Amino acid sequence: MAQDHPTVLVVEDEPAQREVLSYNLEAEGFKVVTAFDGDEALLMVDETHPDLIVLDWMLPGTSGIEICRRLKTRTETKSIPILMLSARGEDVDRVRGLETGADDYVVKPYSVIELMARVRNQLRRVRPGATGQSLTYLDINLDSETHRVTRGTDALKLGPTEFRLLTTFMEKPGRVWSREQLLDRVWGRDIYVDSRTVDVHIGRLRKALCAHGGDDPLRTVRGAGYALG
Ligand code: CA
Repeated sequence: MAQDHPTVLVVEDEPAQREVLSYNLEAEGFKVVTAFDGDEALLMVDETHPDLIVLDWMLPGTSGIEICRRLKTRTETKSIPILMLSARGEDVDRVRGLETGADDYVVKPYSVIELMARVRNQLRRVRPGATGQSLTYLDINLDSETHRVTRGTDALKLGPTEFRLLTTFMEKPGRVWSREQLLDRVWGRDIYVDSRTVDVHIGRLRKALCAHGGDDPLRTVRGAGYALG
């Protein structure tokens, strides 16, 4: 599986439910990580930096609502969409009232098709490049479905790694990515790649972006990493 596929964290204490969710999310092409309670969920968030969290309300120990509240108050995690699963009628009103900060909610028993549609909907917002949409930054256009990249009227030739790098940058223009974050996102955390490899591919990406002229849109941030614009 390509490493730039979105990561979804499933927080659910019931093994059967966890399995159904994981199975269906993987079938959609997502990378799935799981946690069985709130404390493990918080650890997994810091460890895997998920793109979206499916969070069950009823969990042993720290409840889903408390986890949601904590994640939504932390700068590093508040932009991760949270899709809350709720079984209880009276909870729905509270979730709906956005008291929890949850981005969306689904009531149990849910339809898997509906849940997947809501997951995709949230991911389109935060990971447009991973959900088949086209991204634009100034005169650069990247079509994540056809893998075509153009600058102005010129088609650009990018290798697969440079394409994933550019997708990452174009999803969040202005954000500074450290080499380590780029390694996680583009190469995956399971394989060992020297951080200098990132510099090599950034160099290739810059060359490709400027092959037909134009300013270098990538910025080197000393001691921090790279950013687009
Ligand atoms: Ca539960």
